[in-house]
Amino acid sequence: MEELTGIPASKGLVIGKALLYLEDAMPEIPRYGIEKARVDYEWRRFLSAVAAITERVRRKVGELSGDGEKDRRDILETQLMMFEDADFHQNVRRGLESRLQNLESIVWDVSQELIRKLSALPGAEFRARTADVSGLAQELLNELLSIRQSSLASLDEAVIVVARDLLPSQALAMNRDFVKGVVTDAGSHLSHTAIIARSCGIPAVMGLSSGSARIKTGDTLVVDGGKGLVLVNPDKETLSLYQRLIKESRTRARLVYSLGGQKAETRDGRLVTLKVNTETPSDLKKALSKGAEGVGLFRSEFIFLSEGRTADEESQYRAYRSMLKAAKGLPVTIRTLDAGGDKMIPALFQGNVDEKNPLLGWRSIRFSLSVPDIFKTQLRAILRASVHGKVRIMFPLISGLAELEQALGFLEEAKAECAANNQPYSGTIPVGIMVEVPSAALIADKLIEKSDFFSIGTNDLIQYTLGVDRGNEKVSYLARPTHPAILRLIKMTIDAAHKQGKPVAMCGEMAGEAALVPLLVGLGLDEFSMNAAGLVDVKRIVRECSFDKCQKLAKKALNCAGPEEVMALLAGGA
Ligand code: PEP
Ligand code: MG
Repeated sequence: MEELTGIPASKGLVIGKALLYLEDAMPEIPRYGIEKARVDYEWRRFLSAVAAITERVRRKVGELSGDGEKDRRDILETQLMMFEDADFHQNVRRGLESRLQNLESIVWDVSQELIRKLSALPGAEFRARTADVSGLAQELLNELLSIRQSSLASLDEAVIVVARDLLPSQALAMNRDFVKGVVTDAGSHLSHTAIIARSCGIPAVMGLSSGSARIKTGDTLVVDGGKGLVLVNPDKETLSLYQRLIKESRTRARLVYSLGGQKAETRDGRLVTLKVNTETPSDLKKALSKGAEGVGLFRSEFIFLSEGRTADEESQYRAYRSMLKAAKGLPVTIRTLDAGGDKMIPALFQGNVDEKNPLLGWRSIRFSLSVPDIFKTQLRAILRASVHGKVRIMFPLISGLAELEQALGFLEEAKAECAANNQPYSGTIPVGIMVEVPSAALIADKLIEKSDFFSIGTNDLIQYTLGVDRGNEKVSYLARPTHPAILRLIKMTIDAAHKQGKPVAMCGEMAGEAALVPLLVGLGLDEFSMNAAGLVDVKRIVRECSFDKCQKLAKKALNCAGPEEVMALLAGGA
C-alpha cells in the first residue's frame, strides 16, 4: 500500500478503481507500406472507424435529453462535427493514395500536420484547437487499434479519475454518474476544477505532484477528499476500515438531512440565509431539498466554458429561465460573465489571450465592459428571463466606482433595448457587486451607495490580498481565509453595507467551511452561499452558535496576529 498526500480539494470518502487520464497518452503507431490495391480497404477501415465513433457519440447525445444536460450535449455535438469534417476526410484519403502507408500512420501524420499549422498561427484560440485535433486523432487511433478509450464524458463504469491536471472545461464534461473521485498532480483548493468537484459532491485531492506517475489504471484507491489523502492498493484491513467509515458517514448524512426544513438561526435568534452556488436546475433541485433558500452564485461563464464559444442571447435566456423556474420563486443571483484569467474562453477573446499576468489583466467585468455587444446580450437575456422568477444581477471583480457606474449604464441601455423590442422584464431586480479585490472592500462605503447588496468573493479576495495565485499548489499553503487581513476586509465590507441597511453575502469557498461559521456569523454576515454539500453542516453549526459569543469571538479574531492564532481561537468554540 502506498500513501500519498495532497491538498484537500473536495470533501468525502470514496473507494474505487483508478482511471489514469493522460490526454497526451497517444498509443504507439504502427507504420508500414501498403500495396496500391489496399488503399480502398484502408479507406473503408477509416470510414467504419468514424462511423463507429459517431454512432457512439450520437447514442450518447440521445441519452442526454434533460434541460440540465444541454452543456454535455453541445460538447458531444461539437465532437461529431469534427469527426465528420470533410477536409479531414479528404486529407486522409489523399495521404493513403499518395504515400501508400497504413491508415494509422496516415491519421497520425495528417493530424500532426494540422497541429503544426494551427500552432504556427498567433493566439491561444488556435493553440486550444490543437488539443481538439489531438483528441480526435487519439480517439480514431484507439478505435483502429482497439484500445479502450478514456474520454471523461463517455465512461461506462465507475472510476476515480487520476490526471496531471484537469481544465475546468474537462471537469464540466465529466460524466458525473461514473466519476466517483478526482486526483490531480496540479491544482489547489480554490482552483475552478476543485470548485466544480465540490459542487458535484465528488471527493477530490489535488496538488499530489507525482500522483499520476505513481498510480496505474486499475489500481484500487481510497480517496479521502477532506484530509487530502490517497491510498494506493490498500491492504485488506485498511480497506475494511474505510468501508466502515463510508457507511458511517452515509448514516450521519441521513440524520442531518432532517435539518433541511429548519431555519438557519442561532440559539439567541440571529437569522442568516443559506444559499447554493450552482448552474444547473437538477443540482438546484437537490439543494432546495437540503434547505437552500435560493442561488447565491450562478457562474454564468460556465455556460460559455461548456460550449467553448459565445452563447447567443436565446440560449442564455433559456439557461437563466430554467434556473429561475427550478428555483420556484426563490432568488437566483446571476453573476455576469467572469471570463478570462483561469477561465479563458478563446472564442470569446478572439485570439487576444496572450497576457503576461492574466489574473491581473483583461478579465471579468473589465472584459465585459470592453465588449458592449457581448455584455448587453447577456444583460438582455437576464432581463427577459426575470419575468420567470426572482432574479438578482451581480457584477464580478469590481475594483472601483467608475467600473460599477459603467456597468449600470450598460444595464440601463439593455433595459431600453428590451423595452423597444416589447420584451417585458421585472421592474424590481436587485443589482449588486462582488467584493473580491481589496480596493472594493476599502471603498465599500462608496460602492454600496450604488449597489443593492454585496457578495464577498473570498477566492479572489484571498488571491489578491495575500498575493497568492489560487491555482498554484506550491503557494496554496498561504491562501488562508483566516488571515486577519482577510477578516478585516470582510468586516469593513459588512460594516459599510449595514450602515446603509443593505445585506452582505459571501459566495467564495470560505462561506461553506463549517469551522469558520461562528467567525462569519460574528462578523455580521447575512447570507452564506456555498456548494450543496456544505449546506447541512453549516446550518447545524449556525443553530448551535450563540450570536453574542460569535461577536466576541470575531472581535478577538480581528486583533489576532496570524491565521494560526485565529484557528486556535476558533478551536475554543462559540
Ligand atoms: C470568488 O472569487 O470568491 C468567487 C466566488 O468567484 P470565482 O470563484 O468564480 O472566481
Ligand atoms: Mg472570483
